Amino acid sequence: MSTIFSQIVDGEIPARVVYEDETTLAFLDANPLAPGHTLVIPKDEYERLNDVPEDVAEDLYATVHHLVPAVEEAVDADASTVAFNNGEAAGQEVPHVHCHIVPRFEGDGGGPIHGVVGGPADLEDDELDEIADDIESRT
Ligand code: AMP
Repeated sequence: MSTIFSQIVDGEIPARVVYEDETTLAFLDANPLAPGHTLVIPKDEYERLNDVPEDVAEDLYATVHHLVPAVEEAVDADASTVAFNNGEAAGQEVPHVHCHIVPRFEGDGGGPIHGVVGGPADLEDDELDEIADDIESRT
């Protein structure tokens, strides 16, 4: 079964589309956290960032890059939080990769992205070194 976002791509359900090209689509979030809250998706269905092929990832980022200033300017925002909930454990509900562009305003009561987990991870230097080496070895 196709995701709700694929149904938007296919025109089966309505959305407030703000940008479209061959491989990506952007539309307003149906339950906005702020005026202008926009989602950017690849038209093809990939569940997580990890699944997105490199050429599509480039297109996706290009659209995000193009949309961030447009969204901010449209709603006269002071800034924006730009983020992916990448996987269920990170709060992803729709299994079709999407980037949230959430306009932010001075004094809007929201926090930085650091607030998405309970607190800082308590890690020793040797653990940090090991993790850095492990990540580097996989790139
Ligand atoms: P996430 O928790 O990252 O998977 O976010 C999914 C987002 O999709 C939520 O912010 C929803 O409000 C939004 N959403 C769900 N259905 C629709 C829809 N039909 N049109 C626009 N946005 C939607």
